[in-house]
Amino acid sequence: MFEVVIGLEVHVQLNTKTKLFCSCPTSFDEEPNSNTCPTCLALPGALPVVNKEALIKAMRFGYAINAKVNETSFFDRKSYFYPDSPSAYQITQLYKAIVKDGELFINDSDGKKKRVEIYQAHLEADAGKSMHEGNISKVDLNRAGTPLLEIVSGPDMRSASEAIEYLKKLHTLVRYLDISDANMQEGSFRCDVNVSIRPKGQKEFGTRVEIKNINSFKFVNQAIDYEVERQIEAWEDGVYEDEVWQETRLFDVQSGKTKSMRGKEEAADYRYFPDPDIRPVIVTEEMIEEAKKIPELPDDKIARYMSELKLKEYDASVIVAQKELAQYFEEMLNSKIEAKNASTWLINELLGRLNKESLDITQSPIEAKILAQLISKIEDGTISGKGAKDILDYLMENPNDNIDDIIEKLGLKQVSDDGAILAIIDEILASNQDKVAEYKAGKEKLFGFFVGQTMKASRGSANPQKVNELLKSRLS
Ligand code: ADP
Ligand code: ZN
Ligand code: MG
Repeated sequence: MFEVVIGLEVHVQLNTKTKLFCSCPTSFDEEPNSNTCPTCLALPGALPVVNKEALIKAMRFGYAINAKVNETSFFDRKSYFYPDSPSAYQITQLYKAIVKDGELFINDSDGKKKRVEIYQAHLEADAGKSMHEGNISKVDLNRAGTPLLEIVSGPDMRSASEAIEYLKKLHTLVRYLDISDANMQEGSFRCDVNVSIRPKGQKEFGTRVEIKNINSFKFVNQAIDYEVERQIEAWEDGVYEDEVWQETRLFDVQSGKTKSMRGKEEAADYRYFPDPDIRPVIVTEEMIEEAKKIPELPDDKIARYMSELKLKEYDASVIVAQKELAQYFEEMLNSKIEAKNASTWLINELLGRLNKESLDITQSPIEAKILAQLISKIEDGTISGKGAKDILDYLMENPNDNIDDIIEKLGLKQVSDDGAILAIIDEILASNQDKVAEYKAGKEKLFGFFVGQTMKASRGSANPQKVNELLKSRLS
């Protein structure tokens, strides 16, 4: 009955060494106000100089999303007074941003590829931080002037899950491009969510509200769900015009609700004008060349894993979603094991065990080449899959032990020797002659019984593939 419309504005903190307009370091967790200088303190007479590394990183993002990278762009002043912004304006790009008209592809709710437009990505300076302690408020300007890339999507998402999918792809992309650490807890990747509804079939968009500054996928999801429900309810109660208007809202983590913060400013409220202290940005050939140094992008990697390594799309996507996971996987493949086995053991077995201990792949006690070595022992028949799982459990606790020693210690070496297995099989068949007769008379499902008995008699050590082969030949 209703269609949900969502557009996202994401602020990505660029991982440059220095701030956007001065040479103060961008390092985190320093003594308050120690990373400051006359420029980022906005002292009169100090002049900003644009950071080339930030420009190149913004450009690299532009090339990665098939955007137009403007050879000339400008910085503008957006006026607002706030204690953690000493200049009383923010330097941003409004009239001509460095990156225009890009795209990102997501899987929509039906699993089809969907293009999301990226209107623009512009550079701007972050504000400082206010800290409130009882009656006192303090300001720390270490973050003031840190470069942000604001990435503005079209109103193209149609559900909370599409919005999350878009955010995750963007998050993965900026980490692959190495332009941001995109650490959400530390606020290096945060987003404003614009939400509206309209009756299905209606052309015009409904009134949108903007929910500011959310820094987790879960909260984005909750905020959208709450907001959609609020707007639909208002519509159904006939009070849409009164209760849904263009405003800025805040998401309250405790209650899971959005709350009105202020009416949405119009551009005019900000008295935007070109910053007279900053010259136009003109990109050089050298900068273009540097910006075009782009690693294999996530979507290309997924496609390659599917075509070259024959992985399923789902598995390829899981591995590629996290840069370090893909690195781990590729390191496993250096040991010349089957890609399919590497993927299954990584996703189903190692990640499962890491999850249980709340570890991520970068904290894995087991190195890629050790997991690969374990898999090669399955591939060459030394151990069974079941045995390998036991060894993996053991390795989680004792990551430095040698795999051959563990196999020995846990008695997991498989018997693949024909003679030894045949001896067991013959014993089983001899003591079950009635069943053998039934089998030969056509009761074929008894085959499983013989396999089970043989495995049991070998205490699980017989190579199951061998058992199958040898039983077949004995019974035929
Ligand atoms: P403004 O200039 O007021 O910030 P923009 O055109 O830049 O507005 O849009 C800001 C964000 O809001 C964009 O991400 C856009 O996709 C989104 N948006 C615009 N209209 C709607 C709507 N009706 N519903 C949901 N999102 C919208
Ligand atoms: Zn500074
Ligand atoms: Mg905007």
